[in-house]
Amino acid sequence: MIQFRDVNKHYGHFHALKNINLTIEPGEVVVVIGPSGSGKSTLLRCINRLETISGGELTVDHIKVHDKKTDINSLRRNIGMVFQHFNLYPHRTVLDNITLAPMKVLGLSRQEAEETAMTYLNKVGIPDKAKSYPSQLSGGQQQRVAIARGLAMKPKIMLFDEPTSALDPEMIGEVLDVMRDLAQEGMTMVVVTHEMGFAREVADRIVFMDQGQILETTPPAEFFQSP
Ligand code: ADP
Ligand code: ADP
Repeated sequence: MIQFRDVNKHYGHFHALKNINLTIEPGEVVVVIGPSGSGKSTLLRCINRLETISGGELTVDHIKVHDKKTDINSLRRNIGMVFQHFNLYPHRTVLDNITLAPMKVLGLSRQEAEETAMTYLNKVGIPDKAKSYPSQLSGGQQQRVAIARGLAMKPKIMLFDEPTSALDPEMIGEVLDVMRDLAQEGMTMVVVTHEMGFAREVADRIVFMDQGQILETTPPAEFFQSP
């Protein structure tokens, strides 16, 4: 589903990704861990071309991401992304936040988009918040809206960049539960997180990065076994 071949990424003179080789199969859940500044977020952001790679090849669902002729919209249509800071539109209701892209990008009617939105708000456990504004929700609820918004585009891949790092501790569990459900349903997921419990229980593979390199790609049982 996602294939990095000798991918390099430079920010000016800074070498942020070094010869990345990684293949992620459909339905696989890959958790990326490593110290701050090791390139985890960059790796994730290359997948939907929020960052462009400097060298190598990157294909996502048979689309050549490295090819400048590739239409970014057709790429991003299949990829949902959830950020640390929820990035919801503050002056729109929860429902409008979710329906916007399906109406604009997928061409759904308002009614179709709202039905889809309600399906996913149910899935993340907050159908009663449809008419609320983001500021009226807790951080955990806002993040669940962000996940519902991603899912409403019916993506093949979901990317999560430290989705719980900005949350109060008591709200982390509710977001991880939604992600765990998604994983069980077979969503292809790439997750940058410091939640080692989640990594251990949910990941099919752990990718460990340091200084722009992948040092290990192993199942969690191996990664977390004590030496
Ligand atoms: P991580 O997610 O592991 O914390 P990042 O991928 O965010 O790491 O960053 C990797 C390195 O690249 C860091 O040293 C960071 O400062 C640098 N970096 C990230 N984005 C940019 C950018 N737009 N311009 C310059 N340097 C950047
Ligand atoms: P967040 O905390 O939301 O993950 P970051 O601090 O990682 O945000 O990065 C915010 C933005 O700044 C990103 O687009 C990232 O690529 C960019 N960035 C990160 N490090 C650098 C850097 N050293 N120079 C320039 N831009 C950077």
